[in-house]
Amino acid sequence: RTGCAASRNVRTIAMLTAAVAFAWTGPAPLRVSTRRHRPAVMDDGLVADVVEDGPPAPLEVIQDMSTDIGQKFGPTAPAHPWAKPWTNLYEQEAVQLVKARSQLLKQPLKDDMANDEIFVSKDSIHILKHHGSYMQQDRSLKGKDKAQSYQFMLRLKVPCGEIPGPLYAELDDISNKWGHGDLRATTRQAFQLHGVLKSNLKDVIQAIANIGSNTYGGCGDISRNVMTPPVHFPNNKAYVYCQQYSRAMADLFKPMTDAFVELWLDGEKAHSVEYWQRDIGEFDLDKVRSHDNGNGIITGHPVEPLYGLTYLPKKFKIAFTVPGDNGVDLYINDIGCVVIMEPDGETLKGFNLVVGGGMGRTHKKEATFARAADHLGFVKKADFFEAMKAILAVQRDHGNREVRASARLKYLVHTLGIDSFRTLVEDYHGKAIEPWAPLPPWKYLDWMGWHEQGDGKLMLGINVVSGRISDTAEVRLKTCLRVLVDRYDLDMILTASQSLVLRNIAPADRMTVESTLKEHGIKMIDEVDAITRKSIACPAFPLCGLAMTEAERVQPDINAKLNAVLRKLGMANDDFVTRTTGCPNGCARPYMAEIAFVGSGPNAYQLWLGGSPDQAGRTGQPTSLFKMKYDDLEDTVEPIFTMWKTQRLTADEALGDFCHRVSIPAVEKYME
Ligand code: SF4
Repeated sequence: RTGCAASRNVRTIAMLTAAVAFAWTGPAPLRVSTRRHRPAVMDDGLVADVVEDGPPAPLEVIQDMSTDIGQKFGPTAPAHPWAKPWTNLYEQEAVQLVKARSQLLKQPLKDDMANDEIFVSKDSIHILKHHGSYMQQDRSLKGKDKAQSYQFMLRLKVPCGEIPGPLYAELDDISNKWGHGDLRATTRQAFQLHGVLKSNLKDVIQAIANIGSNTYGGCGDISRNVMTPPVHFPNNKAYVYCQQYSRAMADLFKPMTDAFVELWLDGEKAHSVEYWQRDIGEFDLDKVRSHDNGNGIITGHPVEPLYGLTYLPKKFKIAFTVPGDNGVDLYINDIGCVVIMEPDGETLKGFNLVVGGGMGRTHKKEATFARAADHLGFVKKADFFEAMKAILAVQRDHGNREVRASARLKYLVHTLGIDSFRTLVEDYHGKAIEPWAPLPPWKYLDWMGWHEQGDGKLMLGINVVSGRISDTAEVRLKTCLRVLVDRYDLDMILTASQSLVLRNIAPADRMTVESTLKEHGIKMIDEVDAITRKSIACPAFPLCGLAMTEAERVQPDINAKLNAVLRKLGMANDDFVTRTTGCPNGCARPYMAEIAFVGSGPNAYQLWLGGSPDQAGRTGQPTSLFKMKYDDLEDTVEPIFTMWKTQRLTADEALGDFCHRVSIPAVEKYME
């Protein structure tokens, strides 16, 4: 392949071949109001479009609405057709129609918020996610009490995990006044707040907006919080570009609907520029967003030029990093971007891109799987935004909207293969993607402890167990952070491992900051055991509706059990990345861990082994232990650790690398 034209020819032949299995029947009829279309397999194996009289099918409603508002390209009319096992032409799953009918993410949520119920309707739950909120119930309650326990989780959009001191102070107040009195640092570098009642939701969102932040894009079928390493190195250009372009992408892919302003802010924008948008003005992103390269990236929708009427098939995650620093878990993202500098170390050359990572799966449904992203290639700085728009447009037009469990970009990349996916991106982009720039090995860097920022100030990384910012009898973390923010005017950055980094600490304040932390029971990182430091867990019970068992609340106990077994085996100096989730949805990225416990039933976990210690491009593998009883955890891991200790090639061969090398069946045989 020598370029786009050649690749298109190759692709055309591939399409014709594939057509025997699932024929492309041409662009969807865009305006059909009284007829139903259905696919029919003909004698020759091709699929025909049969038109019958009858009321409009739900999909035709989407098609009609797209046409009415002038949308030219989208999932029923891709600018560049590509044969695949789904078409999105004859049926789409229900959430797509909910989005299409929502009047750009407003209804029926707007009506539901105006009524006196303590909950919102099923359709509103889907729309509410795009505003950064999930409706939850307390699953520890029963009957009437449970029925009265409707509450809302709010997740902020904080690109790069940046939390200015004043925003933390506001969240601290909000959580005390309207929430459960605690905050939770998520695995995507955001804060979420639990326990907000419907009647208070508007006040809380207004308060967050008034301090220069927001919640839209925290959840939903749009681009989520954009991640970066949690550091502040103002004189290190690679990290500076990493964060600047992360903020730019957060802005470029934000939804353009005024739904957020209309529903929560009474039509008045709280701020024209939010704090994280401060250094991206030079990019003129409104112009970049609507720029039409003529290759079908721009939908034609008058409000949402990139997303169109039905937004993306499902959530969409982006992370940035610099070569060598993989604290963000780059390979779990829909798109991962690696800053590539010119040899002078000062000039940005472009970005390496990975595509198609994702964690979510369903137990015993082999069609769903965790996947580490593939290397797409390199794009020059000047082409970067258009290339990112092209990838988004490919997922928008070709992602699976028929089966929600198969809607993430990872399934499209897996189905097409990375080479065909790259060709499709190039068709939208109008340019070739260049070969991947060589990179040094990845390292898992969590940025805990003291670090010089390079501008005369200091950073201090603090471990937060499972991300819970709360006060207990022994550890008063929430109170302490408020004291530090108020007294020293500090800002913070949330990490991808649910911990946080305090930044802009004057060297003269180092001792008093440290003593303040110790007074409140907070350990310095050298007092935290390595297993705890490398562990993360999802919230799970009692509020997550999908949880099958505990995660966050048992993680400290799991860490204690793992440490006890290591000590028993004389392996106290060994450690590994361990993660726990309450279900296979994988919010705490368990499938990248060296050893993971994935909830599979009450007090039961599926055991996963073999992820990379640096999360460097592969997932772990499931063992046949599908329902490991929680009480059996020590007995289960002891033979695994024994085998690792006695059969590792070198003293520093990591647990995940060892299990990956010898294979899971070999580990299981040893366990027998
Ligand atoms: S992994 Fe499952 S149980 Fe945990 S927070 Fe996510 S959806 Fe809930």
